[in-house]
Amino acid sequence: MHELGIAQETLDIALAEAQRQGAARVLSMRLRIGDLSGVVPEALEFALETIMEGTPADGARIVIDHIAPQCTCATCGLQYEIHMSSDTALEGHASACPGTRGSASLQVGDTTLMSPITVSCSYACPRCGAVNTDLLCGKEMDLMSLEVA
Ligand SMILES: [Zn+2]
Repeated sequence: MHELGIAQETLDIALAEAQRQGAARVLSMRLRIGDLSGVVPEALEFALETIMEGTPADGARIVIDHIAPQCTCATCGLQYEIHMSSDTALEGHASACPGTRGSASLQVGDTTLMSPITVSCSYACPRCGAVNTDLLCGKEMDLMSLEVA
């Protein structure tokens, strides 16, 4: 349940930004969560709603955008999405991924909002089957925008 820590950091950033803008209240927060970030959006939303009580962000609307991981194949250049469940991202099981030839280790956690975890996942280019792909996105966990008043 590292969502609580992430929620706390997100709220701290939101409140600091609201204060910087001289706003009394946070009306809404928009978050972007990559499917490979290891964050369960529902758990994060619940954690946020819980800790926002009694703060200037009490009752703020939380909008969460999901980012599907995307790869570019280093062999043929094809760009494609990797589909995986959040359970897969969390547990690091390779078996549930759609591409099954070979495996790659992805380092997750290059944002300031979360601690590093490593997810092992196997995926391959749907066109040529190569596995030496570059991950373009899918590890994000960012506070995208903020509405204050
Ligand atoms: Zn390819």
